[in-house]
Amino acid sequence: LMSSSYKVKLLLCGPAAVGKTSLIKRFVKSSFQADYKLTIGVDILTKDVTLSNGEICTLSIWDIGGQKRFEFIRTTFYKGASGALMVFDLTRADTYTEVTSKWFDEVARYCPAMPVVLIGNKADLIEKLGRVMDPAAAQAWVDNINSIYIETSALEGQNVDDAFLEISERMVSKMR
Ligand code: GDP
Ligand code: MG
Repeated sequence: LMSSSYKVKLLLCGPAAVGKTSLIKRFVKSSFQADYKLTIGVDILTKDVTLSNGEICTLSIWDIGGQKRFEFIRTTFYKGASGALMVFDLTRADTYTEVTSKWFDEVARYCPAMPVVLIGNKADLIEKLGRVMDPAAAQAWVDNINSIYIETSALEGQNVDDAFLEISERMVSKMR
């Protein structure tokens, strides 16, 4: 029987429809769904990742829906969390602004100094629609908080595993 060395709670944070649920689905189930289904309340999925040193980390991945406005849901969501993927939509500049202000402020308040990784999702649409924001701005923002910026596509799978692995390494190194 395998026993995992670490069990951590990972949050997916960010505005509606940026692809939080899709990223989790791609990572955990290797699938994608084109039609938009609103996440109700909080969904939790579990997956093991193997870290670069061979240790196993069991992720409990928390996906929050639109009911975040209720204080009791927020409290439960943030309680005991070890890290967060902060997700915005590369085709909507306002989602970048929102994730780096409102969402990050909330993370900093409920979970001070918790590791986060900034995710620009829907990279597959950049080819078709072009960029709506300068990636250097995202890079400068993460430099400032000692983090990294990764562009992903839940549709094509690009960098999705890397994003989850990166935050896992950061959460575990903080626990060691
Ligand atoms: P959430 O509200 O943040 O959980 O967003 P969802 O995961 O429900 O995704 C919102 C919509 O964006 C859905 O229609 C998804 O199919 C679509 N979507 C999510 N990720 C991607 C992506 O990487 N590329 C494209 N083209 N569409 C995506
Ligand atoms: Mg969702």
